[in-house]
Amino acid sequence: MALKNSYLINLIENVKKRNQGEPEFIQAVTEVIETLEPVIEKRPDLIEAGVLDRLVEPERQIIFRVPWVDDNGKVQVNRGFRVQFNSAIGPYKGGIRLHPSVYIGIIKFLGFEQVFKNSLTTLPMGGGKGGSDFDPKGKSDGEVMRFCQSFMTELSKHIGADTDVPAGDIGTGAREVGFMFGQYKRLRNEFTGVLTGKGLTYGGSLARTEATGYGLCYFTKEMLAANGKSFDGKTVVISGSGNVAIYATEKATEMGAKVVALSDSNGYVYDPDGIDLACVKQLKEVERKRIKEYVATHPNATYTEGCKGIWTIKCDIALPCATQNEIDGESAQILVNNGCWCVSEGANMPSTPEAINTYLANGVLYGPAKAANAGGVATSGLEMSQNSERLSWTFEEVDEKLKGIMTSIFQACDSAAKEYGMEGNYMAGANIAGFLKVAEAMKAQGCV
Ligand code: NDP
Repeated sequence: MALKNSYLINLIENVKKRNQGEPEFIQAVTEVIETLEPVIEKRPDLIEAGVLDRLVEPERQIIFRVPWVDDNGKVQVNRGFRVQFNSAIGPYKGGIRLHPSVYIGIIKFLGFEQVFKNSLTTLPMGGGKGGSDFDPKGKSDGEVMRFCQSFMTELSKHIGADTDVPAGDIGTGAREVGFMFGQYKRLRNEFTGVLTGKGLTYGGSLARTEATGYGLCYFTKEMLAANGKSFDGKTVVISGSGNVAIYATEKATEMGAKVVALSDSNGYVYDPDGIDLACVKQLKEVERKRIKEYVATHPNATYTEGCKGIWTIKCDIALPCATQNEIDGESAQILVNNGCWCVSEGANMPSTPEAINTYLANGVLYGPAKAANAGGVATSGLEMSQNSERLSWTFEEVDEKLKGIMTSIFQACDSAAKEYGMEGNYMAGANIAGFLKVAEAMKAQGCV
């Protein structure tokens, strides 16, 4: 999208200058700012209050050393991050990513996205994100524990149940959250809901594990229904085989779709009979093995090295649930050529700008990450409420609330897109709806 508004053009130029070497952050900011042009034209008061200039600068960025000792007694050093991006509507909230690709630009892009996503959930949560370049893959439980304890020793100085509440993300599942929570409790001598995604025996919420994948399907179902379609009888390709991919597969299958492919960072499996999810759960959640092991017990399935090829599989609906920029313009064009008519995002920013342009130019129904995958953080918000009340809700209660939230997120995106003359562009709708609430709160609180 080509911007005409000179204030916004200058704003993006400034972001590029001040954040050199951080292409993911620049990409995320550019996508949002480009869709806000019609809002800014109507609301000069927001420019006057410096809302956008403040919005693109994190409130606080913390970078720290994370030393730990491996199983051979050798000292290892990783780098830890927490970016507290925006607290206009509530305490900072956002996950912790543990992956070798993590650096400040990744954490800033995720934190920026989180601000709008959290606003869309209708719950009072600001945006933040954290992580480390530590790779839990191939590490023993003891090594992961020592890393998590060291990470939390520094992080604990900056977070708290009413200040900043981290959660899981890539590489941070129930095991890692448990180790981090234990260390926080030991350091502070207090049992509070300082992390979400906790185990069910110590304050976790039922349905949090399933929430992002289920929520993605609830959002997508609403988007399909608004366009006279459904999951029933459709062929679906899902990338990744982690938390989001597994529970998206479960819910899409329950809604009548056939999921035929899953992947990890090494390659993808294609099963024309439909993915056997029990097998995937055993491989990934219990045994922590690679997805290629799937074909050993499924003779009709094939495994292909490399993850990009998954987008060459013919499907009606694609649900990218692995990582950022996993669908580029070329892959998007292949999807369209093969008849794919819906892409809905479980991962954060999985589509490049060229891919998004390809969807929009070809009338593909496009569910943007910050709306479609907001079910995870929404349910984290519900975990925070349960922790504050010292109560636990049933699976059904949480799932019902999640459904309601995903439906209202879709409606907010749909109506904002219509109000600003971009009907059917749910990306613009999500950005505008998420932005307006935060912007009003920032303006009301003065120049802070
Ligand atoms: P997991 O760590 O459980 O799974 C990640 C999956 O994606 C794995 O299959 C992993 O393969 C694959 N993957 C990771 N990095 C890459 C890469 N660089 N290239 C190819 N494949 C990769 O993470 P989640 O399922 O929790 O997260 C997936 C996405 O969803 C992320 O973008 C995350 O930010 C987003 N998200 C997660 C939420 C949650 O509640 N968990 C909430 C909202 C968004 P491998 O095992 O080989 O690394």
